[in-house]
Amino acid sequence: MDYNKFFADKINELKTEGRYRVFADIERQAGKFPRAKAHINGELRDITVWCSNDYMGMGQNPDAIKAMVDIATGYGVGAGGTRNISGTTHQHVLLERELAELHHTEAALSFGSGWIANLTALSTIGSLVPNLVIISDSKNHNSMIEGIRHSRAEKHIFKHNDLEDLESILKSIEPARPKMIAFESVYSMDGDIAPMKEICDLADKYNAMTFLDEVHAVGLYGEHGAGVAERDGLMDRITIIQGTMAKAYGVVGGYIAGTADMCDFVRSYGSGFIFSTSTPPAVAAACRANIKYLKEHNEHRIKHQERAAALKQRFKDAGLPVMDSQSHIVPLLVGDPVLCKQASDELMTRHNIYVQPINYPTVERGTERLRFTPSPLHDDKLMDELIAALKEVWSRLGLKAAA
Ligand SMILES: *Cc1c(COP(=O)(O)O)cnc(C)c1O
Repeated sequence: MDYNKFFADKINELKTEGRYRVFADIERQAGKFPRAKAHINGELRDITVWCSNDYMGMGQNPDAIKAMVDIATGYGVGAGGTRNISGTTHQHVLLERELAELHHTEAALSFGSGWIANLTALSTIGSLVPNLVIISDSKNHNSMIEGIRHSRAEKHIFKHNDLEDLESILKSIEPARPKMIAFESVYSMDGDIAPMKEICDLADKYNAMTFLDEVHAVGLYGEHGAGVAERDGLMDRITIIQGTMAKAYGVVGGYIAGTADMCDFVRSYGSGFIFSTSTPPAVAAACRANIKYLKEHNEHRIKHQERAAALKQRFKDAGLPVMDSQSHIVPLLVGDPVLCKQASDELMTRHNIYVQPINYPTVERGTERLRFTPSPLHDDKLMDELIAALKEVWSRLGLKAAA
């Protein structure tokens, strides 16, 4: 077999379909978010970033930068081992304490990423709880799907946010069997939010655990940023909360929170935790600085919601096909992979506006979109520039207007 030809052919398939991914080569600039620089055709240009998951601009928070620099200077740059073998520094201990406090849980356990946190927690619990059935929302993130698959537990998929379908599955499972409902709070591509109270009610009724991915909600919802569960007063009803420090908290790393025994169980049995080097202590310190900061600054959350509402309204007023969203995520429908990528390219090359095209398999075919994530720092002037650029691109490419 010509191995390299195989690789090249597979890449060409993606190119033909118009969903080959090209990275934007950017330089973030502390203090100037959402402005950045981008290397475009050999030039270094000033751009505005409209698609960052650093939802609050916390990647440039001076408290976190100082924490990272101080701890790197004091401890050096790496952790030096897995958590078991010399890689548990005091910064990790403090971070996990902070996370448990945030979620009002007995304990928390941190990981190198949110992806690994989901994979490890779900695969460990799913493979070791005897006879467990996992009932999973159809739009759950890849990391949850992989964790469930890896666990080899029996799995049922319920229609996205559909309580009737969820209940009919729960009803069909033998009552004595252990069960877990796995879902997210804010779904990151459509921006809709799970009916969390009703899901918790069903979990109680059928004696199921709840596994909740709050990756796109921590730092952003609730009086202290503990997520939609905090906003809706449901924190004590979630068995396992999973989150990340890579999105609203602006750094990197994932975690789970829950009872001390549950966290200790995953700590003691989860390969993805045991066999991987812990994050640098400076990273743990920066995460903690931002968690603390956002806990105490609810005004940023209020502003964040105001900016998202303003952008949705402006899209509507401009006749642009903004998709329904109940959250801070603002998707604009294109509905074609080639045009979606072309729109994104034109925004960047002609207007210095960066928004990544979102194509299959991240979203279903025919729902290709541009996904905007306005932060508290995207002011009216930046929105004016964006709307003007979008109007031009929409008319130049003949894209569909709002229905
Ligand atoms: C991004 C994401 C993750 C993974 O988190 P990382 O910290 O980026 O690895 C998990 N769940 C959802 C829903 C996500 O969007």
